[in-house]
Amino acid sequence: MSTVILVTGGTGLVGKAIEHVINTEPAGSRFGKKEGETWIFASSSEADLRDPEQTRKLYEKYKPTHVIHLAALVGGLFKNMKHKLTFLRDNILINDNVLHTSYTHHTKKVISCLSTCVFPDKVEYPLDESKIHSGPPHESNFGYAHAKRMVDVQNHAYKEEFGCNFTSAIPTNVFGPHDNFDLEDSHVIPGLIHKCYLAKKNNTPFVAAGTGKPLRQFIYSYDLAKLFIWMLREYDDVEPVILSVGEDEEVSIKEVADAIVKAVGFQGDYSFDTTRADGQFRKPASNKKLLKLIGGFEFTPFEEALDTTVKWFLANYNNARIGKK
Ligand code: NAP
Ligand code: GDP
Repeated sequence: MSTVILVTGGTGLVGKAIEHVINTEPAGSRFGKKEGETWIFASSSEADLRDPEQTRKLYEKYKPTHVIHLAALVGGLFKNMKHKLTFLRDNILINDNVLHTSYTHHTKKVISCLSTCVFPDKVEYPLDESKIHSGPPHESNFGYAHAKRMVDVQNHAYKEEFGCNFTSAIPTNVFGPHDNFDLEDSHVIPGLIHKCYLAKKNNTPFVAAGTGKPLRQFIYSYDLAKLFIWMLREYDDVEPVILSVGEDEEVSIKEVADAIVKAVGFQGDYSFDTTRADGQFRKPASNKKLLKLIGGFEFTPFEEALDTTVKWFLANYNNARIGKK
């Protein structure tokens, strides 16, 4: 039987990583391409998924049997703070169109992508899959968080009313090749890599935002890609799975900036602009459920993955997503 896997948001950080893994792991292996599989990596130019008609046409063109739904309006802390309504609305529209069209087109399975940003701000740590709806999210990204939380509600409703096999994955902060390296709108790692690169090139100070004290868990996009492929093949339950390194692997923003300074080889002035927001202080998430189900997984060490990402950025500066030139 042929299997058509549609990856929405297939041209982004996570989509490109899935494409890389599926094309480079040995064919037929746990994370490699299986016989009879066709993978489609869709961009927004092929279909704007905020629009139901464009979504329907995309499904009619490819007739996906499986969907990894990554497409979203995505951004780091500062973009989220500026555009709460747009994050709420665009993501609600995209998710509703993708899930409903998957239902009407009899898609066998959909895995949608949430984020640990969706969890409540005030909650007992570590975060786990049972705590998504146990209190309001952090105010800095409540638009994005509420839109993404609704996917879990929708998945349960589609299952209860129509028996759909819809589920979701919850990654922590992701980084890797093909990230969005915009100076203001990106996540912390790509934003700081770009800033540090410019500081070195122009002989100017390297300034990171906030106090440097907040803690985050980071996952390398190629590791995350393998976990999505595992979920597609081996996980069939509506309840989400957190895709993360261990809760004891939190890294401070200062440690991130230090590692970037080292990887870029920057030797000039380096400081923190404490007038800028820190966002949520920490959001440690447990990967117990994941490890129990997958039976062990080797994550790429943080510094090694960061180094590869910096090298990719330097080698691809002219084609990378660096925002306005
Ligand atoms: P990204 O690099 O910004 O890529 C976003 C993808 O979504 C692109 O392929 C983009 O298409 C597509 N897209 C955006 N708006 C669309 C629209 N209206 N219609 C159709 N496609 C649209 O994002 P990412 O980091 O890969 O994120 C992938 C998923 O992971 C998202 O669901 C995000 O919420 C989640 N996530 C990300 C992080 C992180 O740290 N990056 C952390 C946790 C969860 P174009 O290329 O054509 O613009
Ligand atoms: P979050 O994990 O969802 O909060 O998103 P980010 O990836 O945007 O990380 C935000 C944290 O990194 C906050 O503590 C920021 O103060 C800090 N940070 C330091 N420099 C930067 C930067 O250049 N861009 C971003 N997005 N965050 C930065």
